[in-house]
Amino acid sequence: MQTTPETRARMSKQKSHNTDVEMALRRALHAAGLRYRVHRRPLKKVRREADVLFGPAKVAVFVDGCFWHGCPEHATWPKNNADFWRTKIEGNRLRDRNTDELLTSAGWLAVRVWEHEDPIEAATRVQRLVMARRTKVPKGASP
Ligand SMILES: [Zn+2]
Repeated sequence: MQTTPETRARMSKQKSHNTDVEMALRRALHAAGLRYRVHRRPLKKVRREADVLFGPAKVAVFVDGCFWHGCPEHATWPKNNADFWRTKIEGNRLRDRNTDELLTSAGWLAVRVWEHEDPIEAATRVQRLVMARRTKVPKGASP
């Protein structure tokens, strides 16, 4: 297929780690006193990596690029090789939903942050979710 500089720029961004949004989000979470791990698989057997993980709380955060994950606000559908891109992006979206379902059924909470989101607001959202899940007393635990 024909690749334009625009296309190559997009492709080089795929699955990139440590993007600006991700770093800003991590800094904000760290500043809020939260500790986490990065770029790990929440489920060992499932080859899907989360960007930020909170082990005991079982919260997995994914920072999704607007283009690759078909953000409803910023999705752009390239005209060149339209079918290729549509299949690719729709495939990513299906995979994301599937990942969320796998995590949910394993007791995890999948949190998706769009790259266009304000990292501080996203961090606040993540922090609330983590705190809420931490305060839950596990079944069978004595108070
Ligand atoms: Zn977006």
